[in-house]
Amino acid sequence: MSLNVLIVGAGVCGPAIAMLLQRSNPQHNITIVERSPTLRSTGQQIDLKTQAPHILRKMGLLDEIRARCVNETGLEMVDSSGTQIAYFGASASGQRGPGLTSEYEIMRGNMVQVLYDASIKQNAALKLGPGQEIAYLFGQTITSLDQSAQGVDVTFSDGRTQRYDLVIGADGQHSRTRQLAFGREVSDAAFKSLGIHGAYFSIPRIDGEGTLARGHLAPGRKMIMTRTSDRPVTGALLFTMKESPKLKASYKKSLKTQKEAFVEAFEDMDWQTDRLISGLKESDDFYANELGQIKMNQLSTGRVVLLGDAGYCPSPFTGLGTNLCLVGAYVLAGELARQRNDVMGALKCYEEKNAALHCRVSANLSNDSGVSLPIFATRHLVYE
Ligand SMILES: Cc1cc2nc3c(=O)[nH]c(=O)nc-3n(C[C@H](O)[C@H](O)[C@H](O)COP(=O)(O)OP(=O)(O)OC[C@H]3O[C@@H](n4cnc5c(N)ncnc54)[C@H](O)[C@@H]3O)c2cc1C
Repeated sequence: MSLNVLIVGAGVCGPAIAMLLQRSNPQHNITIVERSPTLRSTGQQIDLKTQAPHILRKMGLLDEIRARCVNETGLEMVDSSGTQIAYFGASASGQRGPGLTSEYEIMRGNMVQVLYDASIKQNAALKLGPGQEIAYLFGQTITSLDQSAQGVDVTFSDGRTQRYDLVIGADGQHSRTRQLAFGREVSDAAFKSLGIHGAYFSIPRIDGEGTLARGHLAPGRKMIMTRTSDRPVTGALLFTMKESPKLKASYKKSLKTQKEAFVEAFEDMDWQTDRLISGLKESDDFYANELGQIKMNQLSTGRVVLLGDAGYCPSPFTGLGTNLCLVGAYVLAGELARQRNDVMGALKCYEEKNAALHCRVSANLSNDSGVSLPIFATRHLVYE
């Protein structure tokens, strides 16, 4: 039996689950709706470890991912004069290390692009017709979900309505799918703020900047990082744990307002201040958010299911968000195949498999158990 599937969000999860679903049954009709007019292939470095490389190998993408990885050799912590005060080396994949750098470090944009391109290529190679394909719909979103025993009637932002057998919310930590399917109250309560505000952007590389990431703890509960690796530009990350209503309010406003709020919050930092502030102002890939974890008691309701950050976001401070989303995509596609596309049965199994996963994610930051969950999720599960 083939399914008519809607995936909301073309980030990391969206193209990944589309590819896996189509592989398991080329007859599926899969639409991915993305709010942005083009693929959002920006963002800073993300790491792939534990089970993510295995899943990418199964998808035939590991070599391509490896070729796009950046070469970061470790992390040094520095004082305000730039002198090294601590050093952490890189950890091999599957190994736990105290440092930041994994064997597979890749820019988020490259990861998204590889998955997107691969989904298009796979779809073209199958030579399927309309109604049995992966189709992307950019510059649109969903405005309502209406469930019945027959399916989910989805209204799009252009006013069109379409019925689907399954809707997958892969639309990130502020997921609209979660809000529409579970209600605003449940959705808002799922966001657990860590009380940290973060900004990520690229700045020009300077002479002498090597392949080590550099971190500095600045007065006023701030952390600053630069990550250059072997790239022609440097990734800059600014974090503050200082309560700031201005930063909090800025995320719903323009990029200009967000930048102004971060400049104000960081202009008194004591390391690379001029470089980072001017770089922030000039950057064209600035991205900022209030760091939080997403904790849902349930990942599905009826025929709507959450995947990746939309349902279980551990936050950049624990890392592994991209790993979790790949594990989630693998388990969801695997259960749909195993249950022969019985949507309700597959979602029940996805919930059960993710129960252990979810409670590990729910562990707070002082406990590192969130990190081990992808190992659980696929050590016992192999889908062919
Ligand atoms: C622009 C951007 C930059 C990022 N930069 C970093 C970074 O530097 N470091 C890091 O660790 N993590 C970053 N992340 C988060 C990281 O990608 C995720 O934590 C992780 O990869 C899980 O992926 P995901 O697919 O669940 O969510 P995401 O990668 O966040 O993708 C969600 C997608 O859904 C789309 N979307 C959102 N709302 C709607 C809607 N209503 N309708 C349709 N589409 C919608 C978004 O535009 C996005 O393309 C970034 C995310 C984005 C969107």
